[in-house]
Amino acid sequence: MLIEDPHLGVERAGQMGHRGAVAHGQMYLERRHRECSLSRVVASFPLPWVDRQRSVTRSELLRRSLFFFDSVTSMGQKQATMSATPPPPLDWDSLQKEALEILRGYIQIPSVNPPADTTQTAAFLQKILEAKGLSPQLYSSGPVNRNLLARLPGRDPSRKPLLLLNHMDVVPVDAARWKTPPFAATVADGFVWGRGTFDMKGLGIQQLMALLALKRAGIVPPRTILFLATADEESGGHHGARWMIEHHWEELDPEYVLDEGGFGTRDLFLSPKLVFTVQVGDKQPFWLRLRTTGRPGHGSIPTKKDAPAVLLRALLRILERKEVDQPPAVVEAMISRVGAPLAPHPFTESIQRNSIALTSLLAGVGTPPKINVIPSVAEATLDCRLLPGVDPDEFLSSIRALVADLPVTIELANDLVAPTPPSPWDTPLFGAIERTIAAHYPDAVVSPLLSTGFTDARHFRQKGAVAYGFQPVILDHETAWSAHSDSERIPVAEFQRGIRLLFDLLQEEF
Ligand SMILES: [Zn+2]
Repeated sequence: MLIEDPHLGVERAGQMGHRGAVAHGQMYLERRHRECSLSRVVASFPLPWVDRQRSVTRSELLRRSLFFFDSVTSMGQKQATMSATPPPPLDWDSLQKEALEILRGYIQIPSVNPPADTTQTAAFLQKILEAKGLSPQLYSSGPVNRNLLARLPGRDPSRKPLLLLNHMDVVPVDAARWKTPPFAATVADGFVWGRGTFDMKGLGIQQLMALLALKRAGIVPPRTILFLATADEESGGHHGARWMIEHHWEELDPEYVLDEGGFGTRDLFLSPKLVFTVQVGDKQPFWLRLRTTGRPGHGSIPTKKDAPAVLLRALLRILERKEVDQPPAVVEAMISRVGAPLAPHPFTESIQRNSIALTSLLAGVGTPPKINVIPSVAEATLDCRLLPGVDPDEFLSSIRALVADLPVTIELANDLVAPTPPSPWDTPLFGAIERTIAAHYPDAVVSPLLSTGFTDARHFRQKGAVAYGFQPVILDHETAWSAHSDSERIPVAEFQRGIRLLFDLLQEEF
């Protein structure tokens, strides 16, 4: 829903004065009333968002208008149902079974990116939301790319919304390598198997069901909750989160975002302690391309200056660099909350240093390469991930210094996005997550988490929102790393239990 009349902006409201703005607001509400065919709209309009003196931003005006209209809408709906019966208490058993069937139906729509065709997934979610009395909006960001936004109004219009963020697209599959068909959503051995079960249709449906449970129970949350399902997280969000931020920020403008990233684990950080992680930040992707050139020649007469040999010497120095990186504050907080050094593991090692992965090597003449020809060019790529606070230029200089005596060029191979500091973890929302987890799992520790890869949450952090990655499930590390693999899965019981935790969290004061 949008305010169609652009005149109801700051300047116009100011010029019109209070009475004029009220009249304008009345017209708007009456128009919306006709469109929504409510049984009745309130007779008097205090229009609390039109302040006599204070100037308001257009974004705030829009938020307050939407809130006020939604309040009126729910008043009308409540009055219609009050004479009937109050909503029955939630039947969690049937809601959780329903959630599993919805997840399976959602997985069975292959929304592979590219091309991130989310027309069917968006229509799927739209139908469910509409059946439960919510009116989602669809946004086309490309020929087959759709984003969906739904809102559940909260009690306090002065608080900016909490945004539940999830992406509908999934990465491609190599179907021959799967034990179960990747889009069948097979339930076996206590798991749902399939592409997107973990990344991230599972959390998307948990968010959806928690929101619908609030609606079903007639609970008005402290602040408005937005549910945003996006089109293409898996290729950078150009048609998804980034596009929504660029084109529809005024309808979003959240104070808090809950996205994918963190989860509960007993074997990742300090076995067997239960640690729930809340992703607060990520590492900076910093991709490099190395190139060496030399004289081509016969394989029977090698020299130390041959391009592949030079490249190999350069790579060994870089990959075995001894420099000790200073762990960022978030990693120090993790270590102190877990209460011991993090268990040694490629993941825990990566979050404590600027990681460097050799991802491609290219040399040789002919296809397949001739074994007796020394090529004149050799190339390699490195996927480096920088810790928060690391200056990319300084890092690049330090890498170049390692191979300064070798004829190797090192160039940046990706578009560098602005470094984004992690969200703070001393916020009211983090406190609410801690309280909710403590109520469900009294023995758990809650810790901020630095992620090795980045998610859509980054785009919201850049806009100043506090964005966390949090999925209320407990996973062993093999399941956690099944994302993007040919055995992607999520435990059914955890998926179902987590909906209730999320439902409780959304009612917390923060
Ligand atoms: Zn994802």
